[in-house]
Amino acid sequence: MALATPVFAASTRGFDVLHYAATLDLDIPAGEVRGEATLRFRADEAPLPRLLLDSGELVIDSATQNGKALAFERADGKLSVTLSEPLRAGAETRVTLRYHGKPGHGLEFAAERNEVYTIFSTSQWMPSVDAPDERATLELALRLPKQLQATAVGQALPSRRLEDGRVEHRWHLRTAMPGYVYGFAAGPYQHAVQSHGRNRLHYYAVDRSPPELRQVFAATGDMLDFFAGRAGLAYEGDYQQALVARTIGQEMAGLSLMSETYGERVLDDPTQLGLMAHEAAHQWWGNRVTCAGWEHFWLNEGFANFMTAAWLQHAQGEEAYQQMVTGWRTRVLALREKGTDRALVFPDWNKPSADDRTVVYQKGALVLHLLRQELGDEVFWRGLRAYTQAHDGRSVVSADFQQAMEAAAGRSLQPFFEMWVYGVGGEV
Ligand SMILES: [Zn+2]
Repeated sequence: MALATPVFAASTRGFDVLHYAATLDLDIPAGEVRGEATLRFRADEAPLPRLLLDSGELVIDSATQNGKALAFERADGKLSVTLSEPLRAGAETRVTLRYHGKPGHGLEFAAERNEVYTIFSTSQWMPSVDAPDERATLELALRLPKQLQATAVGQALPSRRLEDGRVEHRWHLRTAMPGYVYGFAAGPYQHAVQSHGRNRLHYYAVDRSPPELRQVFAATGDMLDFFAGRAGLAYEGDYQQALVARTIGQEMAGLSLMSETYGERVLDDPTQLGLMAHEAAHQWWGNRVTCAGWEHFWLNEGFANFMTAAWLQHAQGEEAYQQMVTGWRTRVLALREKGTDRALVFPDWNKPSADDRTVVYQKGALVLHLLRQELGDEVFWRGLRAYTQAHDGRSVVSADFQQAMEAAAGRSLQPFFEMWVYGVGGEV
């Protein structure tokens, strides 16, 4: 995933969103979304005069509280809604927003194949909090032409026929999750479903038949089992994967999107499973255990990359693992030659360069490999499991990971973290 959105610091937000309920009308030929979203939120420890949200390029048509119109302002992708009176500390209320827009990113319309899907920036289709440390539950309804299939985060509820002939598809995400892992995909999909233990695995694509989909995603169950074992946390609910027109790969809550081109590549060469494993790994590292701020983004991306290599080692053997390690090392050495190597923890993540991404994604994974070497498999995996279990459903910073690994190792790892996580030292 890739975000360059500046975020409100947790300390200045002043409120906690508890629940979003949104209904979206999606006009694929026009590339337009029209929505109504109700946010239930609670004021923190001080009275709250206004609600400050990310709202991308959306045009806000109205804001109401208990049926009364509220004043609002929009600037620089943010929406400020003045409450009818300051919400007292600890109290809850609801605000309903009506809006529309033709977002330039975050909501992708592939009109040539009658498809629409989200790409990370949830505030481009629903005014919300983009910051990763804000978790809330979600009810989502999508209104679409009747011939389309749709998949989204959360548990599917029965859909209903609208008077105008369209269909309203509905979902309920009952576990509070960060907003950036909300999303959906809709199109004239072919669909395959497989049972895997207590979970059902759903696959969607426009271009692939159900047997092809089963072939592309054949390793999914094994990936989920492997990561669940390493995390010490079972996978909950259904897992859905869709091949969409264009994307780099995207993890959402219980739903991952990859491109049709990637699906084709896996059909041609069934060993090309890295991207699929990366997105599946995010179901634990990224979605359930989430970096508290993008400065600690390596806790999402370095982990997903490292866990991908660990799964490849399990599924395809040592050489596949070592190949990834060599790849990371080469990338980090190249950064050092250019003088663009940096500490894994960033002072901010507002305008990351391609090299900054390499630090987070590739160096992050390499550092986990080096820590595994330093501690040995038994201690490393025990520590990683304890870290994942302790922070399930929570936001984390690098110190949380250090603490869990030190507890497993029974010693301070300060020199290792100083060198590799907070500093730019060490022989790669
Ligand atoms: Zn990722």
